[in-house]
Amino acid sequence: MAYGCREAVSYSKKQEHEKWCPFVPCSCPIAYCNFEGSLEQLRRHFNDKHKKSAKGFIYNRPVSITLGVDEKFLILREETDGSLFILSNKVETLGNVITLSQIGPFMEIRSSYELTVKDEVDRRCTLRLQSLMRSTPKWVDSPASVGFLLVPSQFSCNSRQLKFILRFPS
Ligand SMILES: [Zn+2]
Ligand SMILES: [Zn+2]
Repeated sequence: MAYGCREAVSYSKKQEHEKWCPFVPCSCPIAYCNFEGSLEQLRRHFNDKHKKSAKGFIYNRPVSITLGVDEKFLILREETDGSLFILSNKVETLGNVITLSQIGPFMEIRSSYELTVKDEVDRRCTLRLQSLMRSTPKWVDSPASVGFLLVPSQFSCNSRQLKFILRFPS
C-alpha cells in the first residue's frame, strides 16, 4: 500500500489491514473528484481545490448549520487543521435521519461531539445527539456514524430547513 505504509500485506488480508492502518488512502468527498491520498494530502488537496464547497468552522466555537430538508449532505472543514466532516441527511417517513462522520483512517482518534436541532415552530423543543466521532476513509452514501439524530418532520414543516448547532466539547 502507498502513502507511507511499510507493512507487506497479501491481497486477501488487505481489507482486514485497512481497518487499522493509519496510512489507508482517503478519498476526496467531492462527487466528481477522484483524488485519493494520505489524510494529509487529502486535507491539502481539499484546501487548494474545493475550499468553497465546505462550511468552515473552528473547534472551540459552536457551529451554526442550516440544511435544506432535501439536501443530502454538507461538507464541513475545520479551519486550523483542515479536518473534513460530512453531515449527511436522509429523508425518511418520520423525518430526517442525520449522521455526522469524519474523513480519515478508521483508527483516527475519536473525539466527542454534540449536535442539537431546534423545532422552528415550538422553540422550546430541542433534540440533541451526544456521540463519538467515527472516521471513514471513503465517504459513501451511508457514512459510518455512532448513532444518528432523527429529526421529526414538524421541525422543518414551515421553513423546509433544518437548523443545527454543532459543538466539540474540549
Ligand atoms: Zn498499512
Ligand atoms: Zn477533490
